[in-house]
Amino acid sequence: MTPSEGSDRRPPSVDSLARQLAHTGLPHPLLVDVAREAIAAGAPASAGVRAEELRRRFLAPVINATGVLLHTNLGRAPLQVDQPASYSNLELDLASGERGSRHDHAGSLLARAAGAERAVVVNNGAAAVMLTLAALARGRGVAVSRGELVQLGGGFRLPDVMIESGAHLVEVGTTNRTTVADYSGSLDDPRHDVGLVLKVHQSNFRIVGFTEAATVTELAALDVPLAVDLGSGLLDVATPWLRGGPPSWLSSEPAVRQTLAAGADLVIFSGDKLLGGPQAGIIAGRADLVDLCAQHPLYRAMRPGSLVLGALQDVVLTYLRGDAAQLPLWAMAGATVADLTQRADRIRVDHAMGADVRTTDLVAVVGGGSAPGVEIPSWGFEVPGDHAAALRRAEPLPIIARVRHRRTTVDLRTVAPEHDAALGHALAGLSAS
Ligand SMILES: *Cc1c(COP(=O)(O)O)cnc(C)c1O
Repeated sequence: MTPSEGSDRRPPSVDSLARQLAHTGLPHPLLVDVAREAIAAGAPASAGVRAEELRRRFLAPVINATGVLLHTNLGRAPLQVDQPASYSNLELDLASGERGSRHDHAGSLLARAAGAERAVVVNNGAAAVMLTLAALARGRGVAVSRGELVQLGGGFRLPDVMIESGAHLVEVGTTNRTTVADYSGSLDDPRHDVGLVLKVHQSNFRIVGFTEAATVTELAALDVPLAVDLGSGLLDVATPWLRGGPPSWLSSEPAVRQTLAAGADLVIFSGDKLLGGPQAGIIAGRADLVDLCAQHPLYRAMRPGSLVLGALQDVVLTYLRGDAAQLPLWAMAGATVADLTQRADRIRVDHAMGADVRTTDLVAVVGGGSAPGVEIPSWGFEVPGDHAAALRRAEPLPIIARVRHRRTTVDLRTVAPEHDAALGHALAGLSAS
């Protein structure tokens, strides 16, 4: 219902217009803003639509039908979080009654799961990189291959982060080829005062052709600590939590456990990429180096609260139990094309769809700046025309689809099965229009 201007020529008062919108459930102060804008625009009747637009800007769940498993705009890894309305032992040792440490829960368990001596958790991967550089190399040089001086997403350029951390960048090798001799050359030059080697996984691009990069094993043999920014945080290349072992599309993704085993002193990764957890950044590895990070004053500005640490702890316990296939991310990543085909057929049977909605094979991707160029075989629907806006208006949940060459595709790989009915309903609505 939209308030009508009626026959009364005078615009309604802001307050009475706001009251007429009470049924939207929006708080009164926000309805007052909406009513004021509508009246100022000379269109009081638009207040209802404006209120609806405002509500749709709130943070809320959506159905990801893009086939991008880790879509940064859609919050990366999907995750169910259950938290009691309660105090917690965040920094209390329940055994002694003394002050405890917030590293004792998620951090310790993560270290156990990753085969690291110690781990510390911060708010995101970018913070983890910054903290590592500041804590281990402030005022000193950090050797980085010219092939790894990357920009990771909007505004996070490694050379800039280096400056902000107080360390200075020592560029090594060339864009396409960097050998371990290039690193040792820079370490031998006292002007550089190199205190850390940083290896950055080329997570969002590939250099192909005449290329060479020093391995973790080679770099670990150098005289200064080696930190590896892995980005995606795949815990173990063997994916022991997946019944069929690692899917082929994961084969070039480095993992936390193996990178540490190969000799990295520290690894840095995100919580919400291939770990499948909440947004977080993790620094794991040698106890003395992790402790330097945890004791650095910047840590205090980057530490997560109990909501994130609780969610991360649950995710890590799932790995330790061998149950990680049940994490929403791995349930989606691990589904076979046969599973997805079955779901698509079921959705078709359950909903009266027009003939122009076809089931089709699709290609899903990892996304989130991980595994560039890697294609995941997938399955879903294709509809001629651009229906992206209509699907974003779907109820009860907006559906985010992809449009290419004037065809709308809906990829089931990134849709949780409990959303199949809502998806089918929306697709049926499309073909009816
Ligand atoms: C994603 C990524 C980051 C940044 O992590 P955020 O959690 O997005 O802050 C840093 N380094 C690499 C290699 C990455 O892939």
